[in-house]
Amino acid sequence: MSTATQVEYEPVIGLEIHVQLSTRTKMFCGCELTFGEPPNTRTCPVCLGLPGTLPVVNAEAIHAGLLIGMALGCELAPRSIFHRKNYFYADLPKGYQISQYDEPLCGPGRLGDVRIHRVHLEEDAAKLIHSGGSGRIHGSEASVVDFNRGGTPLVEIVTEPDVRSAEQAGDWLRLLRATVKRLGISDVNMEEGSLRCDANISIRPKGSRELGTKTELKNMNSFRFIERGIRAEVARQEALLRDGGEVVQETLHFDPVSGSITSLRSKEQAHDYRYFPEPDLVPIAITQEMLDRARAALPELPAERAARLEAAGLSAESAHYLAFRTELADFFEAALAADGAEPQPLANWVANELVPRVGEDDPQSGRIEPAALATLVGMVTRREVTQQAARQVLDKLAAEGGDPKAIVEAEGLGAVGGADELAPIVAAALEANPDVAEKLRGGDMKPVGVIVGFVMKQTKGRADGKEVTRLVREQLGL
Ligand code: ADP
Ligand code: ZN
Ligand code: MG
Repeated sequence: MSTATQVEYEPVIGLEIHVQLSTRTKMFCGCELTFGEPPNTRTCPVCLGLPGTLPVVNAEAIHAGLLIGMALGCELAPRSIFHRKNYFYADLPKGYQISQYDEPLCGPGRLGDVRIHRVHLEEDAAKLIHSGGSGRIHGSEASVVDFNRGGTPLVEIVTEPDVRSAEQAGDWLRLLRATVKRLGISDVNMEEGSLRCDANISIRPKGSRELGTKTELKNMNSFRFIERGIRAEVARQEALLRDGGEVVQETLHFDPVSGSITSLRSKEQAHDYRYFPEPDLVPIAITQEMLDRARAALPELPAERAARLEAAGLSAESAHYLAFRTELADFFEAALAADGAEPQPLANWVANELVPRVGEDDPQSGRIEPAALATLVGMVTRREVTQQAARQVLDKLAAEGGDPKAIVEAEGLGAVGGADELAPIVAAALEANPDVAEKLRGGDMKPVGVIVGFVMKQTKGRADGKEVTRLVREQLGL
């Protein structure tokens, strides 16, 4: 047997996130930002890169950039400048992208367990549509360009390589998404591309402090794909190193359907882009007024909200679950304010019963009112209805809305009162199931569920299971 121990590797991951801002107009021109318009109907000489045009910075985009910087605890640069990032591609009519380089809007910061390296402003490229579908021209393979997206304001967030696993990347991105969403400056919709993430990935022997050669996984459009893509790439790099091979710095594509990773291109270096200061734009000078306005617009952020909910009596898990899902937390807090239910049972009902019925994105649009849920959960806690009956009430509320108390009354769903009412039903259940009663008498309590089930059926779920079991013991003299 070999005594050589295998080297254990540790993933090192840094994330680059692009957030499309939902400002009224584009980054450097007056074209309106819309989604799903006919191709090339939201363009002008500036965003088409026609000669002789001049860009003008969108003040709302700077405001949004400051909000993100503040939310991520970043240093805010009093002065920052734009650079031209030169590359030739059909989605870039000017032949360069206006971006920021060594003087970005925001410097170092932190969100949760990941340090932010920088945050900067730039413009989005146009959208290329490749042949096969609408790109087919005269029957041959071709690509067409939709310039509507070109010039959309983007905020790019770059992290330090602090992430150590695919799962951590997923969790952190959910927190980032919730945070940006809370700021109300972007739809942060991964499928529609308003939130896009690239993952830079390397591995190194555990304990080592040096960074290995990284690859970059491009543009994955869901949290699940990001986690799967990172896992696949870490496994690929490990296999390479264990085989005595080397990781090559390159840009990769992860195909979520096949799970395969393919090379897009060898990674370009910064000097390949021939960055130089944009001569058509003046520097961004951040005034006290701009800072005050951003500070005043800063809402309570998910991390703060989680801490507040925990202090209000929720478990850490529930507090995070709700706080990272703003609409659910809003529903929960409205229910709590309506009074009638304790925080933790209410949170459990939101997560386990409300979400399966109405989803987590827009619970307030459904027919279940926050106050109605609070009333119902209060009734469960006071044992006026059983869990099972309350679920039926919630089904009814989801379908028709209304008042839970009235539904319980009208449908006769109130819990079967004390032992007096329940005892005869338990007796009947034991009589109807003599074999079960026999086993129970013999000390085998496993089949007690049959009796509970019988009683539940008789009472339409209105009996308390624990009370039924207690009565079974009492009647059998156990
Ligand atoms: P590039 O010049 O290739 O764009 P940067 O230094 O700008 O590289 O970093 C881009 C991203 O890659 C950042 O999120 C950074 O944290 C991450 N990163 C840098 N080096 C590594 C590495 N060796 N392994 C994993 N991630 C890395
Ligand atoms: Zn335009
Ligand atoms: Mg970079």
